Amino acid sequence: MNCTDSRIYLPAYLDDELDVAESLRVQRHLSECGNCRQAQDEQLALRSALRDPDLYALPSADFSKRIEAAVRRAAKEEARSQPSSWFESLRLGSFQWVAAAAALVIVTTVGVFFVTNSMRSSHDQLVASAVLAGHIRSLQPGHLFDVASTDEHTVKPWFQGKLDFSPPVPDLSELGWILVGGRLDYVDGRPVAVLVYKRRMHNINVFLWPNHGSADDTIRQEDAQGYQILHWNGAETTYWVVSDLNKTELLGLAQALRGH
Ligand SMILES: [Zn+2]
Repeated sequence: MNCTDSRIYLPAYLDDELDVAESLRVQRHLSECGNCRQAQDEQLALRSALRDPDLYALPSADFSKRIEAAVRRAAKEEARSQPSSWFESLRLGSFQWVAAAAALVIVTTVGVFFVTNSMRSSHDQLVASAVLAGHIRSLQPGHLFDVASTDEHTVKPWFQGKLDFSPPVPDLSELGWILVGGRLDYVDGRPVAVLVYKRRMHNINVFLWPNHGSADDTIRQEDAQGYQILHWNGAETTYWVVSDLNKTELLGLAQALRGH
């Protein structure tokens, strides 16, 4: 790990958000690098300064009472103006009413989130965030591939002996998708193959591993943090494609891979 990576990982390291392997890499770098140790000390100092109780203002008892009274009043008025609402038939007290309204807001928000998200299962959500993290990690200098080659006859054998499966490595150059290399990554509790394709200046990471579940080659799409994530389960292989390329073009690549 170099200093640039260490600075990127440092906040997550201090928040205990890294996995064991990443955490050890940061720790090792810190033990060897005085500059990064100083950055760590600075972040820790800032953190303890922010914990200073003098920075926080607690509301007075009188202020809290006034807020509670205002909420109670508003709830009563609302209930009076909707005498036949289903809320009243539930005979909720004013505070329960406020709680119910708040719960409704939460339910609505969560609902909207899932409707706009075509990857519904929570497992898929976890894998989606893992491949997105893998994609972002790969964009750091020197992390994009372990084997750099535009030749599928070089990239495919490179995986041999490193994985318990042989990933399909299609040549899609005629369609304008330039293979630039491959690497290993770790997703969903297993080592996976990643093929890296390029379109203009965009890097596309194709994560793949054997599909042991049922096949469903409907391409599911999600956008997150400015990246497109596409996913489908082929008869033999599970695919996750991530890029900052636009959705239409990336769907073209997914279809080419699926048809291969
Ligand atoms: Zn350093």
